Amino acid sequence: MSKKFKIAVFEGDGIGPEIMAPTIRILNHLASKANEYQLDFKSTPAGAAHYLKTGEALPKKSLDIARSSDAILLSAMGLPDVRYSDGTEMSPQIDLRKELVLFAGVRPVRISAKEYSPLKIPKDREVDFVLIRESTEGLFFSQGNGEVMQDEARETLRITRDISEKLFRFAFNLAKDRKKLGRGSGEVVCVDKANMFRAFAFFRGIFEQEAEKYPDIKASSAYADVMALWMVQKPWEFDVLVTENMFGDILSELGAGLMGGLGIAPSADIGLDHAVFQPCHGTAPDIAGKNLANPFAMILSAAMMLEWLGIKHENKFMSLDAIKLREAVEKVLQDKNNVTRDLGGAASTSKAANAVLKQL
Ligand code: NAD
Repeated sequence: MSKKFKIAVFEGDGIGPEIMAPTIRILNHLASKANEYQLDFKSTPAGAAHYLKTGEALPKKSLDIARSSDAILLSAMGLPDVRYSDGTEMSPQIDLRKELVLFAGVRPVRISAKEYSPLKIPKDREVDFVLIRESTEGLFFSQGNGEVMQDEARETLRITRDISEKLFRFAFNLAKDRKKLGRGSGEVVCVDKANMFRAFAFFRGIFEQEAEKYPDIKASSAYADVMALWMVQKPWEFDVLVTENMFGDILSELGAGLMGGLGIAPSADIGLDHAVFQPCHGTAPDIAGKNLANPFAMILSAAMMLEWLGIKHENKFMSLDAIKLREAVEKVLQDKNNVTRDLGGAASTSKAANAVLKQL
């Protein structure tokens, strides 16, 4: 009997349910075709709309379902008008990262369809690198607890040895795996501001210690500001970049922009035991409920989930389906008739997602 994997599904707010439904259809199609693994989806309520109904953004029951699942699929959560009394928005997706210690935010920047990128990419160059954003501490450590006084406000950045070591090991192992697959040059760059802040000098010191354990992988460092410039000027030179939470938040959005927009930027937040797979974008309230949302970032995140489960459980059928699914989206992207408005097409969410299903 093929193994059954329990998948917690956070449909979320705004466009969330519209992009989640076709993604689950596609995953069910792949699983039934392969007949070598089963996916058991468990709907998991959370988010801004749920908060309005119940007073809770991330109920304990939902967190328990997430904790006991093999993987977590999440669309996006939050609505700009739904806020706590201190003026901040609820962000259960970030609470989940902290609760489940998902320290490695994996943001692939792969430009398969060059026509959607604002860059002029030389014909002989391929952009295919991964930005890893630490996702549990850094400047997000004091989220919700910043000090606001009469004429001054303060937030605290926190870097710990424990999480930094895990993060850098994850980055070096990823570079090793990519090198084996012929997808990277085998180099990790630590992105920081070690020239200005002691906390980042500490971060870089830990990076250099971990680097010594991986003699086959090149290790170097760069400042976050210059990395923003290089990601635009020569993105084809990078393999794996690893950085603090807030720098990663900003640089991953830049990476999405290089690919052609948030609608095609997938991501994963991975820890030692759990992982959440979700698009880089938010709930896009401006287009919610109109069948206009681009479903590709969500579908590509689902492909990352299959890849992660395939490696973790040594299930080669899941690994193969992950590649099939990514390639199907890349193929569909080549036909402007099948892409949504954000990419210059006129297809609806359903038409774009059905094109992927047909391609499979
Ligand atoms: P957003 O990503 O939702 O939208 C930014 C712009 O990109 C909008 O114009 C939107 O229409 C467009 N866009 C985003 N995803 C798209 C898609 N799949 N297809 C087509 N167009 C798309 O960011 P925002 O407007 O800053 O935030 C809206 C809400 O989402 C806020 O409440 C915010 O807190 C929340 N948010 C959640 C997450 C998450 O759950 N991971 C991430 C970011 C923002």
